[in-house]
Amino acid sequence: MPQGVWIYSEQWEGKFKKVTFELLAQGSEFAKAKNVSLYALLFGSGVEPLAGELIKRGADTVLLADHEGLKDYTSEAYCHILCQLVKEHQPEILLFPATSLGKDLSARAAARLGVALASDVTGLGIDGAGKLWAVRPIYAGKVFAKLSLSEDFPQMASVRPNVLPVAEPSREESAGQVVKLAVDGVQARAKVKEFIKTSGERVDITEADIIVAGGRGIKSQDNFKLIEELADLLGAAAGASRAIVDAGWVPHAIQVGQTGKVVSPTLYVACGISGAIQHLAGMNSSKYIIAINKDPNAPILKLADFGIVGDLLQVIPALIEELKKVKESG
Ligand code: FAD
Repeated sequence: MPQGVWIYSEQWEGKFKKVTFELLAQGSEFAKAKNVSLYALLFGSGVEPLAGELIKRGADTVLLADHEGLKDYTSEAYCHILCQLVKEHQPEILLFPATSLGKDLSARAAARLGVALASDVTGLGIDGAGKLWAVRPIYAGKVFAKLSLSEDFPQMASVRPNVLPVAEPSREESAGQVVKLAVDGVQARAKVKEFIKTSGERVDITEADIIVAGGRGIKSQDNFKLIEELADLLGAAAGASRAIVDAGWVPHAIQVGQTGKVVSPTLYVACGISGAIQHLAGMNSSKYIIAINKDPNAPILKLADFGIVGDLLQVIPALIEELKKVKESG
């Protein structure tokens, strides 16, 4: 009989991604409802000191695979360990973050285990029969589909970052246990040789709580500095529409949309972006949207919670000036 709720905890260079804490909050809720334990999977090299944080935020047991060969993520090695564990322990529910890593790992694991996966979901729960359901945007975010997972176990979903509340540290490390897994050797045909960082020092847009994004309306590459300055003042990440990525003004790593990244920040500030369906597909689950556009009929203004109709080359400098005043006055 399958039992236990599992979450995959993602860390990068010894720091957990915020979405890990979001999964812990959701996992704790499910575990309580089902009266079972919450397990957190922690894979990597030298990651043992991180296990306590997972317990403090709700995990009853951390399943730790700490091995030099797991230093860099490879889907083959990680999936092999994950699937072995699943077959051995048969969890009922298994949640992943819908990050690049989480989407890759969950899809591979679902295929290997022959079970269903609800990917990139923006809401989830348990029905009266104790089965997992999930809400997933489809048709580029125009429609939300409510899915019910099949009878196969584990019932798996990858959850979009920033759509769930975060589990705060609320208990002692001693409240849970860490089970160290024996990883004899790691076999992967592909080896990671180098990571090349593309988006500088700013927060990754998929994790950011606030995003200021620029589109073709910024007129020139040089004007993207305005987007960055506003972003810095708000503690935000800078994003972009495909138009200015294609123009070569900014890297693809910050493109929001169907062929870019899907983001769900608390606040999305769209500057000089028309609101094409392919762009909306990447940001329409943002909690609040502010649009700055000189065209009162721009589609983005229909979606926005607040709209500023005007020339962004005047509006953004004015906003920057006001924000600086607010900061200076403490
Ligand atoms: P535009 O549509 O040209 O809009 C510019 C806006 O700026 C206008 O609304 C205008 O009123 C406003 N503006 C102009 N000057 C000013 C000013 N001075 N002050 C204020 N406002 C001003 N797009 C994406 O963004 N992400 C994707 O992932 C993506 N994937 C795609 C995939 C496919 C298969 C296809 C076909 C297209 C895709 N696109 C994507 C492209 C998409 O269709 C649009 O072409 C693109 O989003 C337009 O970018 P934009 O809004 O910056 O430019």
